[in-house]
Amino acid sequence: MSLKNAYLKSVMEGLKARNGHEKEFLQAVEEVLESLEPVVEADPRYEQQNIVGRIVEPERAILFRVPWVDDNGVVQVNRGYRVQFNSAIGPYKGGLRLHPTVNLSVIKFLGFEQIFKNALTTLPMGGGKGGSDFDPKGKSDGEIMRFCQSFMNELYRHIGPDTDVPAGDIGVGAREIGYLFGQYKKLRNEWTGVLTGKGLSYGGSLARTEATGFGLCYFADAQLHDNGQSFEGKRVVISGSGNVAIYANQKCTQLGGKVIAMSDSNGYIVDENGIDYKVIQEIKEVKRARIKTYLDYVPTAKYVEGCSGIWTVACDIALPCATQNELDEEGAKALIANGCIGVFEGANMPCTPEAITAIKGAGLMFSPAKASNAGGVATSGLEMSQNSGRISWTFEEVDAKLKNIMEGIYKACADAAEKYGMKGDIQAGANIAGFLKVADAMLWQGIC
Ligand code: NDP
Repeated sequence: MSLKNAYLKSVMEGLKARNGHEKEFLQAVEEVLESLEPVVEADPRYEQQNIVGRIVEPERAILFRVPWVDDNGVVQVNRGYRVQFNSAIGPYKGGLRLHPTVNLSVIKFLGFEQIFKNALTTLPMGGGKGGSDFDPKGKSDGEIMRFCQSFMNELYRHIGPDTDVPAGDIGVGAREIGYLFGQYKKLRNEWTGVLTGKGLSYGGSLARTEATGFGLCYFADAQLHDNGQSFEGKRVVISGSGNVAIYANQKCTQLGGKVIAMSDSNGYIVDENGIDYKVIQEIKEVKRARIKTYLDYVPTAKYVEGCSGIWTVACDIALPCATQNELDEEGAKALIANGCIGVFEGANMPCTPEAITAIKGAGLMFSPAKASNAGGVATSGLEMSQNSGRISWTFEEVDAKLKNIMEGIYKACADAAEKYGMKGDIQAGANIAGFLKVADAMLWQGIC
């Protein structure tokens, strides 16, 4: 542990003693606390009111049984989670993840990150996250529907438009949100904007699907310009081929970049002529097939089995958009050796701490997920506004608001870093700016 401040050190040690096995959660907390040293030293109220000790403890964590019947008539059981982390600045807000690797540590890390991310958007949203160890891969639509209905049979009593508003994440897209919403409506007998990422015919927002990927590129573009660079003519590597990756490809191509590699959990493709996002969209969103299928569309492309090697593909800009800890020190060193100028996180915590140290140490630009992938939740916030106002904005209106929000987040991070003596350190700036907003609200609200 590199923490020097005695108060922060004691919070971290206490957390490790109580949650020793929650490695993803501890990693996320330590990364934030390391940036907060100058902040707690500048204002004694954070220690006096034990703001940091309170912020690392979820307000509520719900674990529940999710029984469902598969297509063979066999009764299956999964575990459901909803961690309601912090509601100081608004109702809990954060996605639901369906993936076999989901456990309490993963949900707590995501929920913790969400607190600061949501604060950075400037919209009134607290932090939460949920999900299940259910694996949607290879399941029929009927199985997905029965699982989602069973999941909502418990979740509905803990959420609501003014309490907690879940959304999608890995394994939860438009199909799953639809089944979850339908069941919530049936159980409550009310139509409210209780979930975001809804279909356009029943309250969804235009541009929500594109928002995280587009937002990532708007953020990266702001950071590139601040450093005298741009996407124009740059070779870009994007890991993953899901929601974030597909629309990051679309936007960075529009901004003049060329996406030469993308991946899924089996392997990666390289296409020196540039990967058309529409092909990936068809493979992943329509056919639900593997990325290897890209070779059927572009036979001159190359496919490599195994996903971690993607960082050895020479590029100028890397956008990790798949999952946590997917870019390690070895991957970072390969990027540096090949002359990469910036790594901008699209997934949540995709870079290991060692990778971040190497990237920043070599002078590359780096943006942390909680800032650069905040476009998804920001647009979810815009969906909530449209639902409660019973209005809908055009794609262009939402996209313009998203761009404005992402540029605002970049500026807030850059300004906070500079104010606390870490000019150019966008990672520290994001942690500080997000923390200050939530901490201020907690100070006003007393010990609760
Ligand atoms: P999806 O489920 O749509 O896509 C995830 C993609 O990553 C899939 O292509 C998956 O492949 C691939 N993948 C998983 N593990 C690996 C790996 N180790 N190496 C390479 N590829 C891998 O998820 P999203 O795009 O929605 O989410 C991606 C990340 O972005 C997550 O960290 C999520 O928390 C974060 N995020 C998402 C937001 C959103 O609005 N969707 C908002 C903010 C953050 P396969 O099909 O083989 O599993």
